[in-house]
Amino acid sequence: MDPTTTIRHNLEDYEKVRGTFSWDSIASELSGLPGMNIAYEAVDRHAMGTLKDTLALRCIRKDRSFQDFTYAELKTQTSKFANVLQNLGIKKEARIFSFAGRIPELYITALGTLKHRAVFCPLFSVFGPEPIYQRLSRGDASILVTSSALFEKKVSKLLDRLPSLHYVILTDITEHISDKILSFSKLMEKASEEYQIQETKAEDAALLHFTSGTTGMPKGVLHVHQAVLTHYITGKYVLDFHEGDIFWCTADPGWVTGTSYGIISPLVNGVTCIVDEEEFDALRWYSILEEHQVSIWYTAPTAIRRLMRMEINPREEYHLEHLRLILSVGEPLHAEGVLWGKEKFGMPILDNWWQTETGGIMIANYSSMKVKPGSMGKPLPGIETGIAEIRDQVLTLITEPNIQGHLVLKKGFPSLFRAYLHEEERFNKCFIGDWYISGDLAKKDADGYFWFIGRADDIIKTSGHMVGPFEVESTLMRHPAVAEAAVIGKPEPAIGELVKAFVVLKPGNEAGEELMLDITGFARKELGPAVAPKEIEFVESIPKTRSGKILRRLLKARELGLPEGDLSTLETN
Ligand code: ATP
Ligand code: MG
Repeated sequence: MDPTTTIRHNLEDYEKVRGTFSWDSIASELSGLPGMNIAYEAVDRHAMGTLKDTLALRCIRKDRSFQDFTYAELKTQTSKFANVLQNLGIKKEARIFSFAGRIPELYITALGTLKHRAVFCPLFSVFGPEPIYQRLSRGDASILVTSSALFEKKVSKLLDRLPSLHYVILTDITEHISDKILSFSKLMEKASEEYQIQETKAEDAALLHFTSGTTGMPKGVLHVHQAVLTHYITGKYVLDFHEGDIFWCTADPGWVTGTSYGIISPLVNGVTCIVDEEEFDALRWYSILEEHQVSIWYTAPTAIRRLMRMEINPREEYHLEHLRLILSVGEPLHAEGVLWGKEKFGMPILDNWWQTETGGIMIANYSSMKVKPGSMGKPLPGIETGIAEIRDQVLTLITEPNIQGHLVLKKGFPSLFRAYLHEEERFNKCFIGDWYISGDLAKKDADGYFWFIGRADDIIKTSGHMVGPFEVESTLMRHPAVAEAAVIGKPEPAIGELVKAFVVLKPGNEAGEELMLDITGFARKELGPAVAPKEIEFVESIPKTRSGKILRRLLKARELGLPEGDLSTLETN
């Protein structure tokens, strides 16, 4: 199928859409319900309309069997959970945490919590006890929904230190254990199927997410119910949801992508959402795409890099006729990755940029526009972005193209975060006047496409140049022997910082002097001697966060023998 023939929201009229765009008109496309409740928009609205028998959620278990929920069934289940909260005396804006694998109960908890106007906060199921304690206590958790195995192993010993945690609800026991440790199924059994959603204000708190911790201690980021407008339009324009689409977002709901796009955006757009309980496994992933006839697939560069390393030709070995869009987020996707999509799947992989704080996609390569491999794309309608110079708290927008600066976004879009939990000063520091400062550096080309340079914290200052690690890493990855690369700045008095690269080789290459010289020569030719790495170290793997982001701060701390900092999100297997 030619993907471009099926694009519903043709953004070739991009400028026109931008010109006439208003958040009010987007709001009017959703319900006429007073206020705005995410779960109502995502589930009940469809369950009461023509989509009631459409498949909303398909949860694939580890053994590949699966459980399906239509929109009507999801409405019933989530209403029941909202009643569970009601029956337990849980008040509006209380924090309900989940700490579970990708199982149906997690999705029911998320949406039921939002219906009850409590705040949903997901934790990633591989966290150890201390990161869990930190987040539950910082987040003032009232309820934790988890499994008995996770509870026994990681939570039970923390209870004494968590006096405000009223209940722990276990997803896999049939009877309550005590007044505090309750059974999910027992509570659900007793709860009514009818739940009247109370008026939810657009500004009512809805979601609390902890950031990935790539640059330091994870921040607790708070979003409100009207963020659903961003989930809706980004689903419509970027993910290009059509009626009948089957969408798979591979992110875990422990991270914002897994909630915004693994739950809310597909449902609010009325499509079918696939959930897989298992972790990354290339063969399993390809067979899920085939068996469940996935049409839109949203994944991350870390997974794409792993797939690229394998000798598999997906289009030849699997029936993937239904697949019409592949998208990536989380880190920059190097041009090679974008083009690999074209070669292997017949469509470029569409990179898009956003962060926990923005709650949804802000800048994207759209399928109906010219895709520029290696760029983040253009801002969404309704989103104003700029490149700025910031000096002494004065922000000046840079209007000339191709100049590097801070990537900033104009306040006022619905899904912009409303607080960093317990860190008001840090929150305030993110804003100058009307602009939110993302912490990333980028440049904008003459066609209005944005190009990622690096995180402000990761930028390397060498011999008077500002070097973004991404550019160097992307170049290194074009060398045939390089599978992965991470680049840091290492203090060096004469030049400020020296560019150092950690390189993982593709199988079959021998780490040695000869190859090092070859890679260095290649980088010098491509990047010029000032920017090319002066030091290359071959390593087995590169430390990453659980959400797949390169932890350059950890490589740097290790290189310099400094304390390693918060490692709660470090991927350890
Ligand atoms: P922390 O804020 O705790 O350091 P984090 O910034 O990695 O962690 P997230 O909010 O999950 O936490 O990640 C958002 C960041 O990821 C962005 O600010 C950006 O640096 C990077 N990022 C995400 N998508 C892209 C992309 N398509 N291109 C480039 N960078 C991206
Ligand atoms: Mg961040």
